[in-house]
Amino acid sequence: MARTGAFHRWCAAAAALSVCGWLSTLQTATADDARAPAGLAANGRDTTRAAPQGRPHDGTQGTAPGRAQDTAPQTAPAAPPRPRKTDCKKARCVALTFDDGPMAPTAKLLDILAQHQARATFFMVGRNVESRPDLLRRELAAGHELANHSYTHADLGRSPAAKVHAELSRTQAAIKHATGVTPTLMRPPYGSTDGTVASVSRRLGLAQILWTVDPLDWKDRDSRRVEQRVLRATKPGHIVLLHDIHPSTVAAVPTILKRLSAKGYVFVTVSELYGRPLTPGKKYIER
Ligand SMILES: [Zn+2]
Repeated sequence: MARTGAFHRWCAAAAALSVCGWLSTLQTATADDARAPAGLAANGRDTTRAAPQGRPHDGTQGTAPGRAQDTAPQTAPAAPPRPRKTDCKKARCVALTFDDGPMAPTAKLLDILAQHQARATFFMVGRNVESRPDLLRRELAAGHELANHSYTHADLGRSPAAKVHAELSRTQAAIKHATGVTPTLMRPPYGSTDGTVASVSRRLGLAQILWTVDPLDWKDRDSRRVEQRVLRATKPGHIVLLHDIHPSTVAAVPTILKRLSAKGYVFVTVSELYGRPLTPGKKYIER
């Protein structure tokens, strides 16, 4: 994976976990074994694909292509805080993940996460990235993890290899252009994946991150329900699927952070949750 000199220097200074990789020994990942989901809905597989109503989980709404606010290459990204030394083998870690942005509600979410010193992972749609590079830079500066969610929110599991490659590589380029960071994680839209997606992801250096807890926030735009579902289902080591394109989801986050903090939870990025390099192409659903 090509990186600029500036990015290398930034890596050396910041020792950023997710984007620069670890020096620690590779271990065999086991999280993608066919374990039963612990969340409210079946994880690892799309719960939205079968949904009968609306335009579920649509990462493209409200976005006009070519509305880029800033097209200047970012060769000197703001350095994020140092990765924390949280040991998720011992701490009660949870990874909140936000899909389909960045969009307008993302800005408020970033304020909320900052108030609670919580970190999260953003699985972003490439064409939204091109519209809101300012939000990516805020995410990076706050220590959040930037990750790939395809370019057009495509159903990758039903796409030929060339399309899968184009969707993922375009988004890699968009995120790198905006921030200097090359992601190491992807999440297939709708959880739709197959051997082709795994193979292309492997070639692009992307581990596949699915989820453990799905509060169906895209379907029920009801903050209280989303809060209750997350609070009921979350256990240490879980990955929670949320969407930062819905104001109702963003409004649920303060209560989720307060209540889980009171139970001793630490909010970490997906890479912090595992604390070791993840294997490109492989699927992960929880720690
Ligand atoms: Zn999505």
